[in-house]
Amino acid sequence: MALFIQKFGGTSVGSIERIHRIAERIEHTCRDGHQVVAVLSAMSGETDRLLRLAHAVTPHPDDRELAVLLSSGERVAIALLAMTLRSRGVNARSFTGRQVGIVTNSSHTRARIAKIMADPVRKALAEGVLPIVAGFQGVNEQSEVTTLGRGGSDLTAVALAAALKASRCIIFTDVDGVYTADPNVVASARRIPKLSYEAMLELASLGAKVLQARSVEFAAKYGVPVEVQSSFQKGEGTLVTHEDADMERAAVSGVTGDRNQAKITVVGVPDQPGIAANVLGAMAEACIVVDMIIQNVSHQDALTDISFTVPRSDLARAMALVTRTAEVIGAKTVEVKEEIAKVSLVGVGMQSHSGVASRMFRTLAGEAINIMMISTSEIKISCVLDERDCNKAIQALHAEFGLDHAPGQKGMTGRGEGTTS
Ligand code: ASP
Ligand code: MG
Repeated sequence: MALFIQKFGGTSVGSIERIHRIAERIEHTCRDGHQVVAVLSAMSGETDRLLRLAHAVTPHPDDRELAVLLSSGERVAIALLAMTLRSRGVNARSFTGRQVGIVTNSSHTRARIAKIMADPVRKALAEGVLPIVAGFQGVNEQSEVTTLGRGGSDLTAVALAAALKASRCIIFTDVDGVYTADPNVVASARRIPKLSYEAMLELASLGAKVLQARSVEFAAKYGVPVEVQSSFQKGEGTLVTHEDADMERAAVSGVTGDRNQAKITVVGVPDQPGIAANVLGAMAEACIVVDMIIQNVSHQDALTDISFTVPRSDLARAMALVTRTAEVIGAKTVEVKEEIAKVSLVGVGMQSHSGVASRMFRTLAGEAINIMMISTSEIKISCVLDERDCNKAIQALHAEFGLDHAPGQKGMTGRGEGTTS
């Protein structure tokens, strides 16, 4: 008998009919002699709907109240599934984050998990009760409701799997796994059967929405095997686990495109110590995540330009700060380009294959695509380019690195319901 955490995303609980289908799936696992703890997201679109309501009240809703509001979506889902299972004769019981004992810090809508008691869930399992746990929520030390950031139900599921020492954490979603590229962009994209935590983490951070990045980090830390599976059809998915021998070390596993960044350039900055610290320090203080940074070599007049990217959703805030700093440091102007995309190659095999970067640049040049910024890590190379060129770049790179027909271990991404519940 194994214990499985089965997490169902927003589209999987999107209607009463679908809730019946996942009830069937859970019953099936139980009939095979296993124990199940289900973790649910809110019904699809619900978290977005609640967010819209909050923003209809005020442009800057209070964080504490926002967490109370958003956590309600998952409560609805767990109660409905528990009722459904009970009506089918299964002794199921719903649990909120508080009841499970998911204790977080006080960052109300981006809370980090500090500890999980999980005793009520253990007790339920021991009594033969099937626990249905609300994803995405916890409580701080003062018992105030907190939420774990968008896509946070994945984190609840992984953390619970670690706490309960489950055999596997299965994430049921609307795609059947992680792909070598978004199948909407590359028709020949393939499902990757097995992927290392490291590669998955890069993919998740680079915009593959299948798993929340923090949940992958957590899974790696505690060695939780995570499997992404389709909730609509039976079959193999993608297993994310420690790197092993049968994960072929292909140079490149997949290609991602991220259209959620914007580029800010501070033009004509005096080339002297402390300038980058000034410009970027303001971003850090405002908790705006700066991704890529380029500072040009100064030519005449000892002036230079600094370009960097920020999430598009933070652009207005970032611009207000940068404009102010630019005045203080005597920069000429500040330019913005929103229509950019970051296209990245990911693969643990890059560490041992040379020439991946130059092949990437040559491929983009062959398509007459201009590269605006480049950044690299051991297992990833990213280029910022014009958003218009994003799909063309992904398709060309997917073909160049043989991802449509590579043997064994392949690519990555896929859409997933990460931010849409
Ligand atoms: N419902 C939350 C969201 O949409 C959490 C989740 O679905 O994982 O972000
Ligand atoms: Mg999700």
